[in-house]
Amino acid sequence: MVALKIVNQTLVRRGSPLSSPDMQRETLRAVRIARSFDDAATSGVGPLRASGIDVLQMNVGKLCNQTCRHCHVDAGPDRTEQMSDAVLERCLALVDEGRIASVDLTGGAPELHPRFEEIVSRTRALGATVMDRCNLTVLTLPRSRHLPRFFAENRVHVVASLPFHQASNTDAQRGDGVFEKSIAAMRLLNDEGYGREGSGLDLTLVTNPVGAFLPAAQEAQEALFKERLKKRHGVVFNRLFTITNMPISRYLDWLIESGNLDAYLEKLVSAFNPSAVPGVMCRTMLSVGYDGRVYDCDFNQMLEIPLEEGGLTVFDVDTTTAGTRKIATDAHCFGCTAGQGSSCGGAVA
Ligand code: SF4
Ligand code: SF4
Repeated sequence: MVALKIVNQTLVRRGSPLSSPDMQRETLRAVRIARSFDDAATSGVGPLRASGIDVLQMNVGKLCNQTCRHCHVDAGPDRTEQMSDAVLERCLALVDEGRIASVDLTGGAPELHPRFEEIVSRTRALGATVMDRCNLTVLTLPRSRHLPRFFAENRVHVVASLPFHQASNTDAQRGDGVFEKSIAAMRLLNDEGYGREGSGLDLTLVTNPVGAFLPAAQEAQEALFKERLKKRHGVVFNRLFTITNMPISRYLDWLIESGNLDAYLEKLVSAFNPSAVPGVMCRTMLSVGYDGRVYDCDFNQMLEIPLEEGGLTVFDVDTTTAGTRKIATDAHCFGCTAGQGSSCGGAVA
């Protein structure tokens, strides 16, 4: 296994050409792979299409208190982009008009958006559930200490990143001291009932490989994480999602630097699993960027691949058309269909 080195700067701050989504798309398209995603996934069955919009994913900004090595958003403390009031209001109107069942809040660290709590409360008032993509350490910041209780009061589903059940691999990917702070944050959540049987307060952990390989089987990893984290640190959680690293942004940069890009893409292509295709997350979600542009998923958002049908921004999107739209796919989509498959809900096959 090739160890990830810790780099504490975003691509934007480093002035890297790869901070441009155009350059990322060109880089990926220049890699020779055995077949295209459409050939593998949709030949003979027609294009991949959405089957409704169950989830509105709101990327509320790129500001984050961490600068993880593998981040596909290129988030970090130096990124100031955040969702405007107008876009935010339109997103909430879409949830209401489209009777969308769930809002998925992501970033950056979504909790750092100045209207984060208002978004949660108003979404709940509309009758939709809220999923918060939490990096855990943000909950240990003085400004966030009240959030575990706020989450519990609003029955927020906390989906928290923890690459490994030990400090070494976690800190290698996410920064020195992150594991210890993550455990402290899990204790705060456990104290409010999160992860405890019968509480109805869901704490899901998300693990992704620390290197250029596919995730191990989700069920076995979940059992291992549960056993180790409880025994060694006294913390509990409900379930574990395994997620494949997508060759985008800082992970793409690392793949190039470490000489792993071609082999990693080939690995994803070779591990293509047709039974993962129906469960890819783009089929049931709409992803909104901080600037109001709409995409099939978070990954297409970062590569700036717009919707092919249904509109370009939250202000002109037609949820009826977008609910059956053709999905815009490319080579990175093999990341969602390799092995057990990978989505915002973990393995899909
Ligand atoms: S991976 Fe998550 S926690 Fe890490 S820098 Fe990116 S947005 Fe922040
Ligand atoms: S990368 Fe996005 S568009 Fe491609 S299969 Fe995955 S979720 Fe769908």
